[in-house]
Amino acid sequence: MHMGVLSSDNRGSVKTLTLVAPVQTIGDDPYDNKARSFPAVGVYRLAAAVADSNIQMTVFDNPTPITGIEFLNLAHNIARTCKKSNILGLSTTYTTIDNAIHIAHLARQKGFKGKIVIGGMGAYAPIFINEIDKALPDDTYIVIGFGELALKLLLNQDEVKDRIIISTLNQHNFNVFSVLAYRFVVEAVHMHWKYNEERLGDSSRFFRIITESHCPRGCRYCSSTHIPSKPLYMSADAIKSAVDIALDTNPTGIMFQGDNFLLGRKGKQRLQELIDTNFQSPVDLMLQTHPKDVLDVDPDHLIKIGTTTVSLGIESFSDEILSHFGKKIDADTCHSAISTLLDNNIGVFANIILTSPEATPDQVKHSLECIKQYMKRGVKFGINLAPKLYPPSILFIEAVVNKKYDEQQITYTNIRIKVGDVDISIRKPDMLLPQHDGLRKAVLRVRNMLTRSQTSENLSVQIVRLMERELEAIL
Ligand code: SF4
Repeated sequence: MHMGVLSSDNRGSVKTLTLVAPVQTIGDDPYDNKARSFPAVGVYRLAAAVADSNIQMTVFDNPTPITGIEFLNLAHNIARTCKKSNILGLSTTYTTIDNAIHIAHLARQKGFKGKIVIGGMGAYAPIFINEIDKALPDDTYIVIGFGELALKLLLNQDEVKDRIIISTLNQHNFNVFSVLAYRFVVEAVHMHWKYNEERLGDSSRFFRIITESHCPRGCRYCSSTHIPSKPLYMSADAIKSAVDIALDTNPTGIMFQGDNFLLGRKGKQRLQELIDTNFQSPVDLMLQTHPKDVLDVDPDHLIKIGTTTVSLGIESFSDEILSHFGKKIDADTCHSAISTLLDNNIGVFANIILTSPEATPDQVKHSLECIKQYMKRGVKFGINLAPKLYPPSILFIEAVVNKKYDEQQITYTNIRIKVGDVDISIRKPDMLLPQHDGLRKAVLRVRNMLTRSQTSENLSVQIVRLMERELEAIL
């Protein structure tokens, strides 16, 4: 297996392409409130990037999470459709890689002879190289990063010697492909909202604009970091163009998704540029950012662009747990960020990871008490009981590769892919539990008691109630 880094754009003859967005299947996990439907922006970016190359393209954007039976039907449909394509491109995440392997293998079995490309932003695909090799020994390429340039290369060159390709974009391409992608999204977005309303009773229509490629901060549990390129930021102009496109869909809100909208000089400069051109979102605007960055800007500037809610990666109100996570902020900063926003009538959505591998019951209890107080003040929460193990996060490397933690601290999901005579087992690491015996058992008990909820807020209320009860028994 070779690894190559792309640096140039290649063009060539007319080809046929089948593109598949990550296929999410609905499981038993109570956290499957993500059974919401979101437009497949990543795959639209790929489509937009090659759309001018005079190629014939079929895109499966998989707008909705589906059941296991529905997945099998979809996989057969894709395998039939792609038969004559030169390339079958499968965009995937860590959560959906087994579905991507399944589809690719079925396509081969049904006679697909072209190149198979499996890729995504995380560097998770190499972790499953053995599984990918077993299912698809020939002509399978793994693309890490933004696949636009890799896809062009693979479309235009018959022989590409590197099977693992690291594909990055420059700032200009990032802006252009982003805006083009949203034009494709508009075509499909109504289908997503219709699904959310009919199946989940959710009538909000939030249009997500991904304003950064990834985050450079390096929190230990986070997979957004360690992407093999510098972060790219959508310019103020590109954001405004994307918002104009979004407004054509009559959304109830717009979300600037990217984890670090206000980060550093660049973030503040972009905010200022938006203000200078009198940009103001005419619908609810939610932006994602780091608690520390909230304290570096004038809240009036946030209000000027129409911000109604800020989503913050708080993670914990315990200094010790924040330090375990390598969050590089203290609890006081988190409190100040929340208070500043609430005092300025800006809503807050706070993401929490309740336990770290080194957490004690006291630290978790303190965090829970703060969460309850903030819930009374209208703060909405999304709570995870323990960090998820997503590659290539530091915790994943420590726990799965370097085996730093006790095996009983790691939970797994076991997946079996059976297509014809090929039978593949994938054991995916899931959560990293606390070392503290009572706390670890409490997390597992609460997880088993959770019932599936349609919103992360409802799930969070359940978690707080159940976890408090568990801690009472321990302390
Ligand atoms: S958790 Fe948030 S701040 Fe930390 S690295 Fe990930 S995206 Fe950045």
